[in-house]
Amino acid sequence: MLGSRTPLHALRVAPAAAAAVLALSLHTGPAHAQGLRLTRPAAWTPDSVVKAVITGGSAQLMPDPEVDSSVPRIWLTRAERTRWRQTADYDEVMRYCRQLEAGSRWVKLASFGRSGQGRDLPVLILSKDRAFTPDAARQRGLPIVLIQNGIHSGEIEGKDASLMLVRDLAVLHQHDELLDSVIVLVLPIFSADAHERRSRYNRINQNGPDEMGWRHTPIGLNLNRDYTKLDAPEMRALIGNLYSKWWPDLLVDDHTTDGADYRYDVTWATNHGAGMPAALDRWIADAIERGMVGRLSAKGHVVAPYLDFKGGGGDPRAGIEYGNSLPRFSTGYAPLQSRAALLVETHMLKPYGERVKATYDLLLSLVEELHAHPGALTQAVRDAEAEAIARAHATDPAKRLLALTTSVSDRGVPFAWKGVQTTWEKSDITGSRVPRYSSTPWDTTVMLFRETQPTLTVRVPAGGYVVPQEWTDILDRMALHGIRTRRLARAWSDTVEMTRVTDRTTAPEAYEGRHAVRVLAVQLERQVRTFRPGDAWVPCDQRGGPLAVNLLEAQAPDGFMAWGFFETVFQKKEYGGDYVVEPLARAMLARDPKLAADFKAKLAADTAFARDPSARTDWFYRRSPWTDPEQDLHPIARALRPVPETFLVPVPVVLPAAVPSTSKR
Ligand SMILES: [Zn+2]
Repeated sequence: MLGSRTPLHALRVAPAAAAAVLALSLHTGPAHAQGLRLTRPAAWTPDSVVKAVITGGSAQLMPDPEVDSSVPRIWLTRAERTRWRQTADYDEVMRYCRQLEAGSRWVKLASFGRSGQGRDLPVLILSKDRAFTPDAARQRGLPIVLIQNGIHSGEIEGKDASLMLVRDLAVLHQHDELLDSVIVLVLPIFSADAHERRSRYNRINQNGPDEMGWRHTPIGLNLNRDYTKLDAPEMRALIGNLYSKWWPDLLVDDHTTDGADYRYDVTWATNHGAGMPAALDRWIADAIERGMVGRLSAKGHVVAPYLDFKGGGGDPRAGIEYGNSLPRFSTGYAPLQSRAALLVETHMLKPYGERVKATYDLLLSLVEELHAHPGALTQAVRDAEAEAIARAHATDPAKRLLALTTSVSDRGVPFAWKGVQTTWEKSDITGSRVPRYSSTPWDTTVMLFRETQPTLTVRVPAGGYVVPQEWTDILDRMALHGIRTRRLARAWSDTVEMTRVTDRTTAPEAYEGRHAVRVLAVQLERQVRTFRPGDAWVPCDQRGGPLAVNLLEAQAPDGFMAWGFFETVFQKKEYGGDYVVEPLARAMLARDPKLAADFKAKLAADTAFARDPSARTDWFYRRSPWTDPEQDLHPIARALRPVPETFLVPVPVVLPAAVPSTSKR
């Protein structure tokens, strides 16, 4: 029952935790009141206090696994050699990757770019046919799975799990038949610089390893918010040099979660329902939710969808909200490129070795699932691409709708909760209630809210977008995303839709280095505009069409507008002097009774306006022919029809690359 346990319970299940729990209890009351006294003051180090608390609950139920004794010592990772206490640094990981390459004909080590601090960003390519280039891989026709580790490099068990998996499949030939069905790309450490900012104090909630990397890059960016804006060199390298070259069918993004304690040792998430390509949604339900999760559970893991509690608190009884991620995240980004993405979150309170094992078993289960249903993933991706193209081609405007944001509905389903018994104690430190987790299982039923619904949709423009060439930064980033654009060979005039921003907020505090612009209201204006030779046409009938829409629409939550790339359009550039505008205003009022009535109404309704001489002057200036027609205008045109071929620079003919040797070993 809830409420029947006190922190004293921790004494029985976790002797090491006792001193620290007592230390906290002295501040919080109840244990002290029961006459308990601290007998080991030396244990009052910050380390031991935190360690004791985070290992007192579910960590007791899932100890570290044994290291596989059949693995030759030379092939043990540092995590295995140290019985899961440590993880290798960058240099040692690079040595181990080179050893994998030397040890198997099926493994190639490559670099996909450089980190901000100049480190090579490694990728291991795993292919039985030695299809080590994007062209070769495409010709092979197998699904390509990109396993990305260490985007938050303190959450690093995916690195150890992936290195072990590559070793076991390609070097030790355990289940090597699985590689008949898949090409695997492994990023051992994505945020390489942050990985080297090692400390035992980087993740206060996390149960090992002894030292781990940091969440943000050295310039303070969180790479898992950077998928659309591409501000970090690491993300530009990933998307520009790897993702948009290999076009992986599935991106797996390995993390360690934070938050409440419970018995689940691994949770997963994908986008689903509203806004998702239908074929990918079906593939995820079949291959991930039933297939992979089933296999992973059979391997002894306690698996759940990603656990966000309603209201943002720590109490599962509020219900679980399983919604969609924005495009700034891996799982929000990939579907906009007509591809699948899977977020993996092991549980930070479980011991490090257990978390490595959970990630390893998940990745193995995934590859087993792909092997069991060859062709299913690649077919789903092809169908998703076809869906994106068909949407752009639809003549019925209702069939060109795309959801930009979604939310979960209030229709929930019962969900069997596997928690640990928890007491919420009033704390005079926090002034609220703080959970104390035990290691006693707590099984109950809570509500799971997982039905998604669109909250903001946009009609994809029938003719795509035109981006004036002077917005060079936008076009550079679109190219990194692999979005196909065509340049105008000569001037083109047409009626297009322009988006006027009529209401917006700009965040006063920077987030991820940018002041977020939230567009609250827009007005579409039809205008005849002339575009110059060199301006870029962005057709939407392409695999990344949904991404183009999400980058270029003014109201898209992770578009260029939202991230502040267009803030200059809001700045007023010219001002009328009061001695000039005042007589002009008088003339305007005399000529236009409707304007006069509007002015009178505005004065009556808006006292701040009435008291502000420059606002009153500006009101007339903006209604005069001298006003800037581009003021508050999103500079991206929505074309009503495709730019005719005769106005475009011809597409160069590309000859197919030579087919590489595909001899099997
Ligand atoms: Zn993370």
